[in-house]
Order: sequence, then structure tokens, then C-alpha cells
Amino acid sequence: MHMITGQSISPELAVGTIRFYRHIKNIVGDAIAANPNMELTRYRAAYQTSMEQLKNLYNKTLAQLSAAEADIFEMHRMLLSDNRFHHAIELSIIEEGKTAEYAVYSVGQKLCEQFMAMDDPYLQARGADIQDVMNRLLFALSGKTESALDHITEPFILMAEDLTPSETAQMSSDRLLGFVTRQGSPYSHTAILAKTMGVPALMSIDIDENWDGHLAIIDGEKQCLYIDPDDALVQEYQLKINSSRKRREKLQALIGLPAVTRDGHRVKLYANINTPADLAAAIETDAEGIGLFRSEFLYLNKNEYPDEEVQYTVYRNVLEKMAGKHIVIRTLDLGTDKKSPYLALEPEENPALGYRAVRICLSQPELFKVQLRALLRAAAHGGLHIMFPMIISVQEVRTIKKLMAACRNELQEKGLPCGNPVVGVMIETPAAALIADELAKEVDFFSIGTNDLAQYTLALDRNNARVHTFYDPHHPALLELIRMTADAAHRHNIPVCICGESGADLTLTKAFLSMGMDALSVAPNALLPLKGAIRDISLSV
Ligand code: PEP
Ligand code: MG
Repeated sequence: MHMITGQSISPELAVGTIRFYRHIKNIVGDAIAANPNMELTRYRAAYQTSMEQLKNLYNKTLAQLSAAEADIFEMHRMLLSDNRFHHAIELSIIEEGKTAEYAVYSVGQKLCEQFMAMDDPYLQARGADIQDVMNRLLFALSGKTESALDHITEPFILMAEDLTPSETAQMSSDRLLGFVTRQGSPYSHTAILAKTMGVPALMSIDIDENWDGHLAIIDGEKQCLYIDPDDALVQEYQLKINSSRKRREKLQALIGLPAVTRDGHRVKLYANINTPADLAAAIETDAEGIGLFRSEFLYLNKNEYPDEEVQYTVYRNVLEKMAGKHIVIRTLDLGTDKKSPYLALEPEENPALGYRAVRICLSQPELFKVQLRALLRAAAHGGLHIMFPMIISVQEVRTIKKLMAACRNELQEKGLPCGNPVVGVMIETPAAALIADELAKEVDFFSIGTNDLAQYTLALDRNNARVHTFYDPHHPALLELIRMTADAAHRHNIPVCICGESGADLTLTKAFLSMGMDALSVAPNALLPLKGAIRDISLSV
């Protein structure tokens, strides 16, 4: 047994078997084969394994879901055996002497790029399917589990070099006990996703592939990982997990009670969700609404940009499921660490300061208008709030309002009903906090994104593990910007909420309530502990 320390995102605990998740870029390796014949044999075996996997996935999906969903795997089998792919890979090994991995990767990438460059959106989307098939072959060649870990039926601790938000979002939370990664920072979107799933995550761990299949313990409180723990330690942690479950059960007593301090200061408590699947947890933890729906997760892991109808249905379902409660949908915040293949975002030197969020939306208004029309139509089914991320100027807000008016006209011309969403902005740049008085004249509410506000105020990349020890959510400059924002909101009689991770930081709760925050919006898991803390606070002492 040995113990390694890292950086944790929450005090949660987990005991389980490690499953190693490998990125494609770590699998490809050398280009030139020492023995091309052996590479050909390896490739053919991987091809057979992949064909088998796809057949099994087809049968499983057909039995559990529908023929339409299962057909994807049949289509992948066809792509895998397509001559432009299969035969081209064999030729690359035999004639060019490439390794199996390199041949699969180079042929796959080339074909994928050709599809992505096509005008027809259907054919463009096939690019992502090729990528999927290519990944499957690469994983089969590595002799490891598939990327999606979809054959693992036992609960597991996922170990990886790093995880992107889209990879994290794909993990099915029912079997996932926790994450352990070498890269990543506790303030990244990947960490936020882990929190929403209610599982622990340890970062900055010097991981070892040989731990695949070994038993491990994550102690999020002590920020450490035990590999091959002995029976006594496993038992000790199982007891700790049980008592933490009991503590959570006790918190159930707070359901139905208001979030009010001892001296009668009432604050609204909302949940942050990333996908509609998180709604169940928000309802279970008695959220008074959704304070932040990160709509961009609808766009990740998709082969194509979700059209107006798809988005409208999702937004409408959220409104209907929350039955008249307060719902805030944030418009898409892609860029930096959240990328979709069909958007073809180019690599940038400083992505956090680059082409992101409203900057993408305002540069590609036709793309943005699809979302705005879907939101306007959904607003006809309930009191919807929408807000815009990464705002730095009044001009941006005015341009967005003009685009919304144009969308309304387009919908009315088609005879489609629209509602009147309440419009707000996220205050997550120092610029927005400093002009909060001006912004307050333009919108109906503010929501403070402390994750980015800290990143931009402290000049610290929230995704960079090397600097995260300098990242200080209690920094006086940050708290001052939050206070200024709250004051400006109240001078203009609009409500202000905190939806960044600091909203769940119990060491800041009293400060935020003293600033007059009207609401806090946190991961569903954090909601009842926060309510308990608020009910114990007295602002007058
Ligand atoms: C924030 O920046 O605090 C926020 C809530 O948005 P995100 O974490 O999605 O960037
Ligand atoms: Mg943000």
C-alpha cells in the first residue's frame, strides 16, 4: 500500500477499482514500424475486436434503447470496413512501413478532415463518426478498455492524464466513484462537472498506468490517494463513507425549509446544472430554481450544432420539469477548454483571453440566433431568465438585445409564439464589475461568475494546475469587485446572485449575505449543506 498527495476539489471520499482512461494522443507513438508484418497482424486483430465491440453495442442498444440509437453502431461498422479507411490503413502499414497506430491515426485524421470540410452538414457530421471509429481502433490496439469505458459494469475510479470537459460530461455518473488526474486544476470546468456529479476528484497526482485494475481510496479531505490499501484502511474508509452518507441524510430535514439566517435575512438558493440530466438532483435537493444552466454542454459531444428545434425542446423540457420555478439559462459559453469539433475553433496562444462565449456569438450571429430563437420560443412556456457570459461592455448587451429583437420578428413572421424572457448578464470580468452601474440600466439581473471573475482579476489561468495555489477566492480585490457589483445592482433595483463556485464556499457565506446577495446558485450536492450553514448564521453578530 502507498499514499500519494494531490489537489482535491471537495472533501468527498471513494473506495473502488482504478480504471485507466487513455487519450488518443498518448497512444499513437512512433510512425515507423520495426516489423510491418507484425503491425499488420496487430491491426487486423484490433479491427476484429472493434467489429465485435460494435456488434455487441448494436445488440445492447437495440435491446435497451431503440433501433434509431442502435443504427449508429451499425453505421460505425460500415465506416470501419469502408475501403477508404480499412484498405488505406493496410496499405499504409504494408507499403509505407508505418506502425498500426500511426496508420490508423493518419488515415483516420485525413478522412475526418475531408468530411469536416464538406458543405453538406450531414457529411460534415460523419467526420466525428470517423474520429470515433478511429479512437475505437486505437484503444483496441492498446489492448486497453475503450475510451467511453462503456463495457465496465462495476463502479470504478477513473484515472487519466487529463480530462476535457466534454470527456468528463460523457462519463456516466452511475458507475463513476471519482476522478484522479495528473493535469487539471480544481477550478476548471472538469472539476465543476465532477462536483455536479457529486464525486471526488484528485488532481496533480503522479499517476501510473500500471495501477489499472488496482484498488484505491480517494480521500478528498486529506487530498490524497491510497493505492492497494490494506483491509483495515478499506474498512475505516467504508465507515467514513457511511457516516458521511448519514450526515447527508440528516440534511434532508432541511427540505421544505427556507434559506433564512437566524436574524431573518432570506436568500434564494438555486442549483447549477450542466445538462438536463442534472435536474433530478436539483429537484431532490429542494432547489428554488436553476440559477445557472450551462447550455454549452448541449453543444459538446455532438457531431453537429444542435438546431433550433432540438434546443427549443430541451429548454422547454427544463421549464416544464421545474414547474414554474425560477430558471436561468446561460447562452453558450464555448471556447477555451470547451470545444466542439464542428465549430472548428483554432488553437490560440491565450485561449482564456481569446475567442470565447459572447465573442463567438457576436462574431457568428447566425449561429447565436439559432439559440436565441429557441430560447424565445421556450419562454412562451414559462418565466424564463436568460443571461450572457463574458460581457465586458454595454455595447455588447445592446447588440445582443438587437439580435433578440430580430429573432422575435423572424419567429412572429413564421407565426411561432414567443415569450418575454427576463434578461441578465454574468458579471465575470473585472470590466463588467467596474461598469456594473451602466450594465444595470440595460438588464434585469446580475449573476456573478466568481470562477472567471477570479481568473481575470488575479490574472490566473483557472485551468493551469501550476498556478492554482495562487488562486485565492478570498482575495480582497475579488471580494471588493463582488461587493461593488451587489451595490450597483441594488442602486438600480435589480437582483444579484452568485453562481460561481465561491457561492458554495461556506467560509464566504456570511460575507456574501452581508453584501446583500439576493441568491446563491451552487452544485445540487452543495445546496443543503449551504442551506444548513445559512440557517446557522446571524448577520448582526
Ligand atoms: C463562473 O465563471 O463563475 C461561472 C459560473 O461560469 P463557468 O464556471 O461556467 O465559466
Ligand atoms: Mg464563467
